[in-house]
Amino acid sequence: MAAVAQLRPPEHVTPHDLVTYSRCPHEMELLHARHASLVTGQTVVARTPLDVVPLRHSPLFTPPNLGVVVNDGRLDVAPDDRLVYEDDGEPDLPMLFAEDQIHVDSRYRPPNTTLIDPALGLSGRPDFVIQQRNGDLVPVEYKSTHLFVGYHESHGRTFDVIQAIAECRLVHAAFGRRPNHGVVLYGDVAGDGQHEGWVQIPYGDAEERWLHAAITQIRSDGTRAPVPAERNCASCAPNRDGLCRYAAARFGEEHRPPPVWVPFRT
Ligand code: SF4
Repeated sequence: MAAVAQLRPPEHVTPHDLVTYSRCPHEMELLHARHASLVTGQTVVARTPLDVVPLRHSPLFTPPNLGVVVNDGRLDVAPDDRLVYEDDGEPDLPMLFAEDQIHVDSRYRPPNTTLIDPALGLSGRPDFVIQQRNGDLVPVEYKSTHLFVGYHESHGRTFDVIQAIAECRLVHAAFGRRPNHGVVLYGDVAGDGQHEGWVQIPYGDAEERWLHAAITQIRSDGTRAPVPAERNCASCAPNRDGLCRYAAARFGEEHRPPPVWVPFRT
């Protein structure tokens, strides 16, 4: 009897994957290989061929960024805004809500805080989701350590736009209502909040089409080529652990978290 071919599920993608791929596809591939090694207990080798030609830029096309609004200062929530979702894995989120504004959706309480879009094979956790008085939902991504001063130069809008688009889609899939924008909030904890700011990123049909195409691009990329550049490599975790043969710069000490790696190399 002929063996029945088993269909492999599409590769799982997160908002973080999209951001990483937009910097360096090989970095994303190394992170996926590490994760697969941890899950299976077997060494999973990155798909990137050894004779790959490094790229100057990621092949991911940039997302639409018309209508992005950059705001200096605090993000103030309205008295009738509600907190309907919070990532329990992020203990240092800012306290923006009074006790009576916290109404976390019972479907997404710990340990079920991962939002999943089965149609796209996308999952992730915004830092929190605000429900406004008219029912509109707003995912918020909080970056505590980044100064807002020099925002355009040091961080760039593209990463924020990608993350906000992916989180809007997750909220749409999980809550059944499409957000019309997402927010990235810069808390500037190190600077005692002196340089807070936030970015409002629109979400609509164009952004959703971009997301579909971007995930298709990632899944169909059989090479996951490296993009060696100081701006990428200096903060790249696989570089920190000596896993990348293409690194253009040493990993920066200021980015060093505790190492947690399984032993595999490309
Ligand atoms: S070290 Fe540089 S080239 Fe290598 S995976 Fe990291 S970002 Fe890409």
